[in-house]
Amino acid sequence: MKIKKLHDLYFKEVISKEEINSIVKTLAYQVKQDLPENEVPLFIGILNGCFVFASDFVREFNRDSEITFVKLASYEGTSSTDTVKKLIGINEDISGRTVIILEDIIDTGTTLQEIYEIFRTKNIKELKIVSLFFKPDVYRKELHINYIGKSIEDKFIVGYGLDYNGLGRNLPAIYQLTTQPKMKNIVLFGPPGAGKGTQATLLKEKYNLVHISTGDVFRFNIKNQTELGVLAKKYIDAGDLVPDEVTINMLKQEVDKNAEANGFIFDGFPRTEDQAKALDEFLAEKNERINGMVALEVPEDLLVERILDRGKTSGRSDDTDEDKIRNRFNEYNTKTAILKDYYEAQGNFYGIDGVGTIEEITSRLATVFDKL
Ligand code: AMP
Repeated sequence: MKIKKLHDLYFKEVISKEEINSIVKTLAYQVKQDLPENEVPLFIGILNGCFVFASDFVREFNRDSEITFVKLASYEGTSSTDTVKKLIGINEDISGRTVIILEDIIDTGTTLQEIYEIFRTKNIKELKIVSLFFKPDVYRKELHINYIGKSIEDKFIVGYGLDYNGLGRNLPAIYQLTTQPKMKNIVLFGPPGAGKGTQATLLKEKYNLVHISTGDVFRFNIKNQTELGVLAKKYIDAGDLVPDEVTINMLKQEVDKNAEANGFIFDGFPRTEDQAKALDEFLAEKNERINGMVALEVPEDLLVERILDRGKTSGRSDDTDEDKIRNRFNEYNTKTAILKDYYEAQGNFYGIDGVGTIEEITSRLATVFDKL
């Protein structure tokens, strides 16, 4: 689950593209079942919002059919108004045809009613309505809607063809208007030894954020011989990752302990794509999001030296054995480094040169933190 910003507003994912796909399939199947096999229906898509739905629907319908579009805009901003503005209609002769109206969403039903009235006068054989989404709480018309994909609550949604002032139509899932995030949440990223811990300690003060290092939490638990510590120890000592389920639950607890925080610096988490997805979902449930992943980029050979050096004083058993250090890099390169792509795809990745003095690097990081 993700949070998207469109213009000045924030939206969170509420219906996944997989769910939409299955709704569209079911609708197409139902419509097909109810039509005689040799009937070639004329689908009428109501623009603009339905263009994505109509396109998927006719392909799922997968039988001879025609499609055309009418445009009757009734939306301004986020609230439905009763002023229907303009119809760009169809001019072809549709008398005697089975006409099936395709709507992306029906709320008050005003637009639909007007379109329905227009088609009713055209001497057609049968007129049916298919709507992908339907808001039962605000529907004010008597008109029967023959096929409804999914009934939803009366919240403003975007995605899958639906827009907010022009944006959001391209989103593959449905997103719902949500409150503005209050936190600044940053994933501090980079290979072992890149200096994440040192920098996080400095930056948390500067930005009044809570620093969560999953490595530190594990070490604390190992030291105190908790159940979690005993479980995690064997993975950590070998330089392997602790299983996702354990790590994700632990992270959630750490976040929930600090519910009033201005935000978090996540250090050492996420380390796998499943962790990144879990974090996105967890934050979206709180109407929060990751503002950015900031990555410290340092060449590997320099890092092995740094870690061995750190091992002389850190007391960390995984910092002293070069084989185990190499294995941590292997885990990083095979499981963690791909997260760069994950955040890049969200437009949220910021790479920073991690070679230099501590002060130099803090100031490079701060330049990015300031704008997130
Ligand atoms: P770190 O202090 O971040 O280098 O973490 C030390 C060790 O803790 C890692 O080598 C892993 O064994 C374990 N660990 C820390 N964070 C995670 C995570 N997000 N997922 C799985 N294992 C982790």
